[in-house]
Amino acid sequence: MLLRYRYRIYPTAPQRQSLARSFGCARVVYNDAVAARKHAHREGLPYPATTALSKALITDAKHTTERAWLSEVSAVVLQQALADADRAYKNFFASIKGKRAGSRIGPPRFKKRSNTQSIRFTRNARFAVLGNGRLHLPKIGNLKVAWSRDLPSAPSSVTIIKTPTGRYYASFVVLVDDGAELAEPIPDEDAETGIDLGLKSFAVLRGGKVIDSPKFFRKLERKLKKAQRALSRKTKGSANRAKARIKVAKIHEKIKHTRADWVDKQVHRIVAENQGIYVEDLHVKGLAKSRMSKSTADAAFGMFLTRLESKAARTGRTFVRVDRYFPSTRSCSACGALTGPKGLKGLKVRTWVCECGAEHDRDANAEINIRREGKRLVAAGQADT
Ligand SMILES: [Zn+2]
Repeated sequence: MLLRYRYRIYPTAPQRQSLARSFGCARVVYNDAVAARKHAHREGLPYPATTALSKALITDAKHTTERAWLSEVSAVVLQQALADADRAYKNFFASIKGKRAGSRIGPPRFKKRSNTQSIRFTRNARFAVLGNGRLHLPKIGNLKVAWSRDLPSAPSSVTIIKTPTGRYYASFVVLVDDGAELAEPIPDEDAETGIDLGLKSFAVLRGGKVIDSPKFFRKLERKLKKAQRALSRKTKGSANRAKARIKVAKIHEKIKHTRADWVDKQVHRIVAENQGIYVEDLHVKGLAKSRMSKSTADAAFGMFLTRLESKAARTGRTFVRVDRYFPSTRSCSACGALTGPKGLKGLKVRTWVCECGAEHDRDANAEINIRREGKRLVAAGQADT
């Protein structure tokens, strides 16, 4: 399977200049491709193929005075920018046709200098990790990398990223042996858990074990709001506005990293303790809207499920998504009757008593139902694992 390995890099001042040139050229080629396709669409012409654009926007453009500087950067970087534009359009078309998971996406937009910048080098570009630990990039130089962990094998590509706060990263794509992370199976039959996601707490596991939403989510959110308000008060084009914008971007980055760290910790623990993991296939967006609007925790749900599924697959755990229309909250886990809380009003009900006399904690009951349904699906050979 393909995995990404990301490291902070520290380019020197001249290297930063070369990178800026490459970012700029890649952005221009990307934007030219988007412009060409917008134009074709307006004129009722067929979708311009990447090969045709490659000739017009790279090969031929290098011979014009306006675009001659494109020859100063690696050709692979420019080709990859075209590939990115093509992929953005393919995603957009798939989204219109309803063939893409997630919410509808709009047509590709022009890239701006102030956004995150990136360029990609494939093997053709002859990038290399040198014996001294430096990363060699053609037409840029040998960059210093903070190797926070080892690359498991030779990478097939590397993307160089510059964040709006001025940090640089190298993100390698590495083919990893599918068995590389396999964990010892846990023979204990009880080493299984359902996961009921997010209402009062982040998640409830077997035995009513609660994973709380970390406090720093809210704290960082408040900080972000404050910085955003400060930004909105600054005069357009002023130096103070630029400073305030960087401050907002820094908090966004901090939120992203803190959230990823926290999610990884939870995933790691659940996979270490359970052979079978059963989750409700939540419509995460709907959940976010109705329950905890705009909270940082929302974004964590999607990330949590994605990383849990992938970690479970890599380590050889059973991971099953239970249909999201399965009435995990409403069913009584003792008798099966649909006597539990329902609807928006039911969101506040924490405990309830079924007609059969069983007393339930809402989330603990849901976890039992999810786990049972997940096991049933596995036994019936219907689990999509
Ligand atoms: Zn009952």
